[in-house]
Amino acid sequence: MTIIRLGRAIVAALLLPVGAHAQPEIALVERQSLCVAEPGTPVAASHRLHLTLVNIEGSGWTRERALDALRETAAILGQCGVAVRDAQWLSLSAPPRYLDFSTPVARDLARSYPVKRPAIYLVRDTLSRPAFDAEAIGRGNSRSRPELADTVWITAAARDAGIVLAHELAHVLMDNGEHSDEPGNLMRDQTAAGSTALSAKQCARMRGTGSDNGLMQSLQQER
Ligand SMILES: [Zn+2]
Repeated sequence: MTIIRLGRAIVAALLLPVGAHAQPEIALVERQSLCVAEPGTPVAASHRLHLTLVNIEGSGWTRERALDALRETAAILGQCGVAVRDAQWLSLSAPPRYLDFSTPVARDLARSYPVKRPAIYLVRDTLSRPAFDAEAIGRGNSRSRPELADTVWITAAARDAGIVLAHELAHVLMDNGEHSDEPGNLMRDQTAAGSTALSAKQCARMRGTGSDNGLMQSLQQER
């Protein structure tokens, strides 16, 4: 009798769909709209940029820190007439292997949980060597990893996160990896607290290529 029952239990277990009791590997735990521009702030903008922020739970990032960085980024991009008024915050629970950036893991994450671009991924650390605090993946450097096009990956260790984010986002929007030697320029090879300027040429490229690639919208009315 016992044996028969056990046999039935095994059959029942075998009939269950595979993974019926397994938790999804990657799950959304929080979604929120972030107000980046202070209410009432007049913004002379010709273009609007809407960003998705993707936090991996356990990365060390908080929504507050991300919002602080984003506000600084918005102020920097504002000099090009690009407004970042709001952003989508998504926090995902994922197995620990997703906490640190590496191209295979990032591809897996981007494929498993697709989000609107441009997207900023907030990760704990990087397994890339040399280890950069942040990486930008535009169209030009994503041919072998198309899932990662139009994304920025920034580690919790990044200093001057708002400037780093603006620098990497500028690479994505301009779709190039060019750096500037100009003192005080945001696109200097090494990001620094005082280096936030963008030239008229850089701004034009950002708006032009960013719009052409569908990463920002022009606010200019047709007359
Ligand atoms: Zn760079």
